Amino acid sequence: MDMSAKIGERPEAIRRVTKIYAAFLIAGFALSPAFLIAYLYFFQDPALKFENHLFHEFAITGATIEGLFVTYVSWRCYLSSGEPLLRWLTLGFLGFTLIYVLHGAFTGMAHHNIWLFLLYGPASRLAMAILLLIGLLSFNQEPDTPAQRVNPHTWLAWIAAFLVIDVAVAVAAYSPFAGSPALRLSMEGGALMFSAINLSVMLMGRIRSPLMTIFGISIALFGLSSLAFILGKPWNHMWWLAHAIFAGGFFILSYGIVKAFHTTRSFANIYNQEEMVNRLAMAMVRTESALQELQRSNQMLEHLASTDPLTGAANRRHFIERVDAEIARAKRDNLSFALLALDLDNFKAINDRYGHQVGDQVLQGFVQKCTEQIRPYDSVARMGGEEFMVLLPQATQELAVTIGERIREATESAVFDSIVIPKLALTVSIGVSQFGLDGSTIDTIFRAADERLYRAKNQGRNCVIME
Ligand code: GH3
Ligand code: MG
Ligand code: MG
Repeated sequence: MDMSAKIGERPEAIRRVTKIYAAFLIAGFALSPAFLIAYLYFFQDPALKFENHLFHEFAITGATIEGLFVTYVSWRCYLSSGEPLLRWLTLGFLGFTLIYVLHGAFTGMAHHNIWLFLLYGPASRLAMAILLLIGLLSFNQEPDTPAQRVNPHTWLAWIAAFLVIDVAVAVAAYSPFAGSPALRLSMEGGALMFSAINLSVMLMGRIRSPLMTIFGISIALFGLSSLAFILGKPWNHMWWLAHAIFAGGFFILSYGIVKAFHTTRSFANIYNQEEMVNRLAMAMVRTESALQELQRSNQMLEHLASTDPLTGAANRRHFIERVDAEIARAKRDNLSFALLALDLDNFKAINDRYGHQVGDQVLQGFVQKCTEQIRPYDSVARMGGEEFMVLLPQATQELAVTIGERIREATESAVFDSIVIPKLALTVSIGVSQFGLDGSTIDTIFRAADERLYRAKNQGRNCVIME
């Protein structure tokens, strides 16, 4: 089913314009911190500082807790989907957190060794940007096997690697090169460059799910925060703004992770809204047809359970149900109805003479003749063997006898088309009973009809007995 036709007219031109508009909005949102950066760069004195160690420690503690939380949620998503992108995201967040935490821990060192304090920030951002790039390049790859997902060696090896980076940064901070701006700038510039590469990979790779759009926005923010760090000086406003932009990117990305956790636990298998609407419509069509199929087979089952397979007449179980319903109706509306009990005469002889198969055809032919003689709302049932019953709702005794006679005559004069044997003599004996007159339970009216049928047999067969 075409969903767009359902929703209404949506001309192609408007569709395209709104798509471009939406893309502009997203790009504008992703790049909005650039205005703040430009504002501070052109209109603020870079010498203005806000040096507050406690505030910084609080901020980094918050970032660390947030980092660990997002790492955990990503890891849970990865465990469930095995998506390589999520493995790299988990590692990216974990690496970032384990390196960045020292930036906060060494706040107090700012005056002793400023580099020990300053270098962990760019190092953590660079590590995360590189891991995100590896993740992006593994987008849409086959999921890891469950055994791979929980292999502790991989995770421990990566944690060890992050701790090695921690030590390496400390070594660098105490090395003669620590003071050269090149060290910090190359790391921060590297983070900026990798963010730009990440964004290009996303745009060129046409990775377009809503979650990946969120991912793209956060990568743009990471890049802008690196730019602000490069332009800023420790403790000045640009430097704080850089922190805030990075935090914004991290929050947005964590929003995507949480969304993934609530849905498919995967970044690749989240569809855009249009695709979801289409899938939903298709699923509804499938459900609808499955339901109809189910109703059809239910009806068929019900039919099979209530009919005799040989003759197509109602079976005993179904007939008893109908008579019960008729009794209830007769009692409620003070009506009456009649029953015929029928038994084919000397049927054994037909079987013996012509064979069982011909006997079967005679049974089928008899039900057909019988059906022709009754009213549309009467019903014939095969009670077993060559014994039948007919329910005649709202029939008086006289009418019941009339209908019984019609059946008897039709049987007597029947020529069964399907049977090649000429002059097959078939007759039927019939007992009639009347609800009310002969009793008002199923047992009494059945018994009355059977007794009269027995008497019909005794009186020479091929007759209808009423009393
Ligand atoms: P009557 O009722 O007139 O006393 O004689 P009958 O020969 O009809 O009586 P009986 O009840 O003894 O025989 C019924 C026969 O119906 C016995 C059985 O072979 C035959 N019969 C029962 N069910 C079927 C069936 O499904 N197919 C065929 N071909 N014959 C059946
Ligand atoms: Mg019989
Ligand atoms: Mg018989």
